[in-house]
Amino acid sequence: MSPDRFTLDHINPRSLGGSNDLDNLALACHRCNQRHYNFTDGVDSETQSLANLFHPRQMDWTEHFIWTSDGIRIFGTTAIGRATYQRLDLNDDFHNNGAIQQARWIWVSSGWHPPDADPQQ
Ligand SMILES: [Zn+2]
Repeated sequence: MSPDRFTLDHINPRSLGGSNDLDNLALACHRCNQRHYNFTDGVDSETQSLANLFHPRQMDWTEHFIWTSDGIRIFGTTAIGRATYQRLDLNDDFHNNGAIQQARWIWVSSGWHPPDADPQQ
């Protein structure tokens, strides 16, 4: 993926009153930005209740997500993590053709992924 495929995503969407302040912006790939759209919540697959999406400026990634032992797939471990996983389709289970899993396989093979600080099964 080339760098021009990354955009600044509004965490709290502009359409819902979110600002252009830096603390409301996060660097996101084009696919995540599109899937985030103007959503601030998603469905927790465990409870079928709405839960807030992960907030990259206020929350700790490692508290909400875990990689599979092979580092190819990621899952939510909390309501926020599961809602975000579902909403952003973090494993390309519902969109695309699994390109993200193919990319992760290359990154794992090269020793770049998953990040050392991230929980892994
Ligand atoms: Zn992304």
